[in-house]
Amino acid sequence: MKVLVHYHEIALKGRNRPFFLGKLADNLRRATADLEGVRVRILPGRVAMEVPDAASWDVVRERVGSVFGVANFSQAHEVPADLEALKAAAVEALRDRQFGSFRVTTKRSYKGFPMNSGEIDREVGGAVHHATGVRVDLERPELTLFVEVLQDRIFYSWEKHKGPGGFPVGTSGRVVALLSGGIDSPVAAQRMMKRGCTVTLAHFHAFPLQDRTTIDKTRELARILTRFQFRTRLLLVPFAEVQQTIVARCPAPLRVVLYRRFMVRIAEALAGRMKAKALVTGESLGQVASQTLDNMAAIDEAARGPVLRPLVGMDKEEITAEARRIGTFDVSTLPDQDCCQLYVPKSPAVAATLAQVREAEAGLDVPALVATAVSQAETERFEFPPRSVGQDPDRSGELAQ
Ligand code: ATP
Ligand code: MG
Repeated sequence: MKVLVHYHEIALKGRNRPFFLGKLADNLRRATADLEGVRVRILPGRVAMEVPDAASWDVVRERVGSVFGVANFSQAHEVPADLEALKAAAVEALRDRQFGSFRVTTKRSYKGFPMNSGEIDREVGGAVHHATGVRVDLERPELTLFVEVLQDRIFYSWEKHKGPGGFPVGTSGRVVALLSGGIDSPVAAQRMMKRGCTVTLAHFHAFPLQDRTTIDKTRELARILTRFQFRTRLLLVPFAEVQQTIVARCPAPLRVVLYRRFMVRIAEALAGRMKAKALVTGESLGQVASQTLDNMAAIDEAARGPVLRPLVGMDKEEITAEARRIGTFDVSTLPDQDCCQLYVPKSPAVAATLAQVREAEAGLDVPALVATAVSQAETERFEFPPRSVGQDPDRSGELAQ
């Protein structure tokens, strides 16, 4: 079967077109890497995929439908650039289908074709009407036959599936997303992927002070998110020592902000090694007492580069709906012991001032704490689709260390 993939022209503005299209084509290849014999080619104005008929359309549809940069796509058929060939093929294809009305919608990408799109609509529509007796309805057709005229061939199809939009992963650089086990941070990470970023995930855990549930949850979340970017690195960072030090030496109300400042420092140190340009968190303004503007400012002050918060203006219901849509909600809501629940004071500071946090940190050996955590971080790798058939995808992270 043939699959035609369309992208938004607007997405190319100001961007390097061949680079963008190359990534889109690469990602379509990766998304279908386990289906033998898929070929992807860049044509004028669209990308065409040749998929062996043995492949299941449901699988192809799901895979192509989650590649960022895809505006819409369809299962298409091809004839030579010849009107009579198109008419015959369209009639043949639609003869056995049940539909009460139809229209033809032609897009002529090759302007050298001897007829314009309106003329092609009428010619092909006339032929289909003549053969099937079905009436044309331009306003609310039950079936639309889409025709796309290129220089050397014509494609036709009668379906269009919505793609996820956005930019192809790999076109906007790398970021490191702080992944808790909660609802918000996986959504934030996925939003950055949609803007074309390759996202490395970093999870801070308090093992052995706490059990491994958040580690297992973030592995599962990484596995789900990898569907959108095909390869993911998950950094697992031991955080218990930092937390114990803060608890022993700093005022209790500042703990949460101090935890976050250390997370940011450690994540940036790890990010620098992989040339990541920014950090990402799942914070949303005002969602909990610790997510105030003052606290965000105090957290950012510990960072050298940008800390992006793609969910900052969303409310919990919107974030939850998105988590369900991308498939992370059920994992995120499993019970866990997040490291930030450890030693959390009854009334955390809602407006930590810089002077306060600086004073609190003055008694700590910040560089040494950061360096220790960085040196103890472990990396796990995830791939989608899993490389070899029969490999248990749940264990791919552990196998590919
Ligand atoms: P989430 O649902 O993402 O856990 P939350 O509403 O629980 O967010 P917080 O616990 O205040 O909010 O965390 C704010 C952000 O800090 C998270 O979205 C995440 O980006 C980061 N974060 C919190 N805990 C961790 C952790 N253990 N490891 C990595 N990042 C974390
Ligand atoms: Mg949380």
